[in-house]
Amino acid sequence: MSGMQRRKTRQITLGDQRTGIVRVGGDAPPTVQTMTSGYTYEIDACVAEINRLAAAGADIVRVAVPKRADTEALPEILAQTQVPIVADVHFHYQRALEAVEAGIHKIRLNPGNISDRDQVNAVIDACAERGIPIRVGVNEGSIIERKDKQRRMEELGKFFADHQQGHLMALMIAKLEEYMEIFEARDFHDVCISAKSMDARLAIETYREISKRFDYPLHLGVTHAGPRETGSIRSVVALGTLLAEGIGDTLRISYASDPIYEVEDGLEMLWSLGLRERKGAELIACPTCGRIQVDLFTLVQEVRSRLADEVEVPMKVAVMGCVVNGPGEAEGADIAIFAGDRRGIIYVQGERVANVPEEEILDRLLQECLAFQERVRSGEAKLGEKSVEIVPPDPIGALGSGAERIAAGEVEQITVGES
Ligand code: SF4
Repeated sequence: MSGMQRRKTRQITLGDQRTGIVRVGGDAPPTVQTMTSGYTYEIDACVAEINRLAAAGADIVRVAVPKRADTEALPEILAQTQVPIVADVHFHYQRALEAVEAGIHKIRLNPGNISDRDQVNAVIDACAERGIPIRVGVNEGSIIERKDKQRRMEELGKFFADHQQGHLMALMIAKLEEYMEIFEARDFHDVCISAKSMDARLAIETYREISKRFDYPLHLGVTHAGPRETGSIRSVVALGTLLAEGIGDTLRISYASDPIYEVEDGLEMLWSLGLRERKGAELIACPTCGRIQVDLFTLVQEVRSRLADEVEVPMKVAVMGCVVNGPGEAEGADIAIFAGDRRGIIYVQGERVANVPEEEILDRLLQECLAFQERVRSGEAKLGEKSVEIVPPDPIGALGSGAERIAAGEVEQITVGES
């Protein structure tokens, strides 16, 4: 989709006839995962949460299975959901065996807390028999619990002395390499790996290093990133940097919040980088300034929520506060509204179609978006075919105070043309 060169990895697949097959790695576009926040053994609530996350666009959903009751709930949960499900296993390798027995689509093991070779082999053999992939996921947090951490960190840190927190990076990589030997010895390659850290720089450097050492698909994540307000920045800085370098085959953003935001933000990141085909409208909006003459922030939020509910075609919609800079910034939009003097003028594919009072802007804009969506679907119109263009000053008439501004040389008339 983009000119971005992606690092070539092996590919794993997960899912079944009911869920469809999701591919991770190789030439597959990066996928977005999330994890349920409720108890897995509460079947109805768990199913409802998984279905809500899948409807929001999650490609893969993970559930925690700390208790026997959780793995016992899996057959029922799997029967009522249509997205591949991963069982997240810590400490108790039996949970992995039970989840495999229940028909789970993938297992996640943490080398930091399941390290007994025989136990790992038992999980590998069960997964191999059923063609189920395993994610080997190390976390900075569970690695540094080791008793001999200080000595090992000092020793290993020397190998990555040029890196920020090279000792932690070395520990995670050493743990991964050690663990992967068990898989290699079993000739099991249906593996995806992750090495999550709480620190964005450490995450970037560790994944870069891992991508040189392994050809397994990489699951990206910054762990315990915090609330969405700050966690989104930390996650997108790290994951966006790696993805832009072609590293990363699936990702999970983790927030101390409703996991629906993890899905929304993960998808938006992939769309912004051109790594996935956008679903739904792309909203462009101005930040407003002293020229604003309508309540643009409210309007933008309302437009966003209505577009998310009603528009599936990836049209570009621009909501601009005025006619000064708006037209230039809205260039390329399929549909645009320029506000001014408590009114809004609406353009569809570069043609002015309406000039309405502020209170009618939202409904009229939506009406135009839906009509445009129909025209795109029927083949009458094409996305991105025509754009807004600016020509030298000329009165814009019905825009009220705009005429004065034009006379003062502050604004220019908007006209349209085919690009
Ligand atoms: S479009 Fe107009 S109101 Fe919005 S930021 Fe630009 S100049 Fe200010």
